[in-house]
Amino acid sequence: MKNIAPDFLLIGSGVAGLRAAISASRYGRVLILNKGGLNESSSQKAQGGVAAVLNAEEGEIDSHYQDTIDAGRGLCHDEAVRVLVEEGPNRILELIEWGATFDKIGSQFATVLEGAHRKGRILRAQGDATGAEIVKTLVEKARKIPNLIFSPNHFAIDLIVEDGICQGAWVLDQAKNTMDPILARGVVLATGGAGQVFSRTTNPTVVTGDGIAMAIRAGAMVSDMEFVQFHPTSLFLSNAPAFLLSEAMRGEGGLLRNSDGKLFMAAYHPDSELAPRDIVTRAIWHQMRQGQSVFLDLTHMESAYVRERFPTIDKTCREYGVDIACDKIPVAPAAHYMMGGIKTDLFGRTSLNRLWAAGEVATTGVHGANRLASNALLEGLVFGARVGDDLKNVAPLPQTPPIPLFNQRGGICPSPLETYYAMQKCVKDTMWHDVGIIRSAKSLERAMKQIKECEWVMNEPLPAAPTNKGEEKISSRLALETRNLVIVAAAIITAARARKESIGAHFLEDS
Ligand SMILES: Cc1cc2nc3c(=O)[nH]c(=O)nc-3n(C[C@H](O)[C@H](O)[C@H](O)COP(=O)(O)OP(=O)(O)OC[C@H]3O[C@@H](n4cnc5c(N)ncnc54)[C@H](O)[C@@H]3O)c2cc1C
Repeated sequence: MKNIAPDFLLIGSGVAGLRAAISASRYGRVLILNKGGLNESSSQKAQGGVAAVLNAEEGEIDSHYQDTIDAGRGLCHDEAVRVLVEEGPNRILELIEWGATFDKIGSQFATVLEGAHRKGRILRAQGDATGAEIVKTLVEKARKIPNLIFSPNHFAIDLIVEDGICQGAWVLDQAKNTMDPILARGVVLATGGAGQVFSRTTNPTVVTGDGIAMAIRAGAMVSDMEFVQFHPTSLFLSNAPAFLLSEAMRGEGGLLRNSDGKLFMAAYHPDSELAPRDIVTRAIWHQMRQGQSVFLDLTHMESAYVRERFPTIDKTCREYGVDIACDKIPVAPAAHYMMGGIKTDLFGRTSLNRLWAAGEVATTGVHGANRLASNALLEGLVFGARVGDDLKNVAPLPQTPPIPLFNQRGGICPSPLETYYAMQKCVKDTMWHDVGIIRSAKSLERAMKQIKECEWVMNEPLPAAPTNKGEEKISSRLALETRNLVIVAAAIITAARARKESIGAHFLEDS
C-alpha cells in the first residue's frame, strides 16, 4: 500500500465512505480503507430502512423535512435538512439504477411507519436487511471503477497535518503490523460513530470513534457531542449482545409490555410505541428502574408475516433461543447513534483545510438533538455524494510535504493487553452508568474524574516499531482504540456538562 499514491484518501467503507469514493473517483485516484472487512460497519447492520420520499405527492418532502426538524427539537440546521430531504430521493433512485432492490407490494415500494414519522416513507430491503443491500450495491458499483482501490484491514491512526493543512494519514497495516504515511490532496473521514464508548451498544466492534478522536487531535472542530441516541429496543439476555430490534417492529404493530403484562407507553406519550426514540427509551428505563422487565410483543400478529417481514432478526433471535413470533422478546435500551461529531458545512468540509467528513462521524446539523429514525443511511448517501463532488476542485499538494516521524512521540511498545481491556471496560461502564440515558451534574462530574484517570493512555508512547508477533499485533490496534475511546468519552462528557438543560437525547434528571 505504501506505493499507492492516491489523490484522495477515504477512511471508512460504510455507506458514506463508499458513496463519497464513487463520486471522488471521477476526479482522481481514490484509496478507500477500512479497519475490518467490508462487512464490518454499522451500515452493513442497518435493518429497518431508509427514509426517502419517492413518487412524491405534493407536500410530502416538506412533511419529511418537518418531522426531521421536530425530532431534532429545534436544534437542526434547516438548510442541511432541506438538502437531506430534497436530494435524498435522487440518491435512492440512483441506487436502484445501480442494482439495489427495495421491497415492493405489487408495483409500489413497500413503506413502513417508524417513530416520529407522520407518514410511512421508509423503504426497506429483504425485510430487515436494508443496510446490507445498500452496501452490496455500492461495493459492486465501486469495484467497477478502475481508479478506486480498496485496502481492507488498514487502520488509520492519525492525520498528517503540516502548516494547518491535512495532507494524509498514518496507517497501520494490520496484517503486516507496519505503519506507513499515506499522503493525499484530499482526506475524507467516514469512520462512523462511537457506540463502543458505551458498555451496551448496538454498534459493531469497529465503531470506536476513531475519526472523531483523530479530528480532535488534529485540531478540527467537533460539535453536539452531548447528543447520543439510545435505541429503546435491543435484545436483553445475559448470553446475547445488545442486538438491535428494529423500530420497524413497532411500526408494524409490535407493543411494549412490562413484566405485569401491562402496556405502558400511552402513559408516557400520546403516540405510544411510536413516540420519538428518546421518549420510548426513557419510558423503558423508567419501567426498569421500578423493577419491571420490558418485552417487545408481536405475538398478536400473524406469525408467518412476522418471520417473513423480519428474517434477519428472526434468525439472530433464534440463535439465542427467542422466537420473535411466539415469545415476548426481552428488551432494554442501548447506545445506538452519535448525533455529534466533526463539524462540517453542507459539502462536508471541516474546519481543517483539506479534511472532509461524511456519515455518522460528521455533524452536518441534520439531526439536531435527536435523529429521526432511518435518516442516517440517507445522510450517508446524500452527504457522501456531496463530499465526493466537492473534491473536484482540490488542487494538488503544493510540494511533496515533509513526512513527520510517527515515532517522534515515543519509542516502545505500550502496556500489556490486560491494561487496555481493563481500561476499555472502565471507560464503557462509566459512560453507560454516568453519561447514559439519564444524566445529572453529579454523574457527569464523577464520570469526568474517572476518565481523567485514564488519560495517561493518550500520552503513552505508541507502538512505534511494531513487530509481527501475535500479541503485539493485537496490542497496536487495542492501544490505539483505547486512546480514541478515552478522547471521545472526554469530549462527550465535556459537551454534556456544558449543556445545562434537558433537550432531545440529552436528559438531565436534575435540570
Ligand atoms: C444495528 C444498527 C442498525 C441500524 N439501522 C438503521 C436503519 O435501519 N436506518 C438508518 O438510517 N440507520 C440505521 N442505523 C444507523 C446507520 O446504520 C449508521 O449511522 C450509518 O450506516 C453509518 O454509516 P457510516 O458510513 O458513517 O459508518 P459505518 O457504516 O459505521 O462505517 C464505518 C467505516 O469506517 C471504518 N473505520 C472506522 N475506524 C477506522 C479507522 N481507524 N481506520 C480505518 N477504517 C476505520 C470501519 O471499518 C467502517 O468501514 C443502524 C445502526 C446500527 C448499528
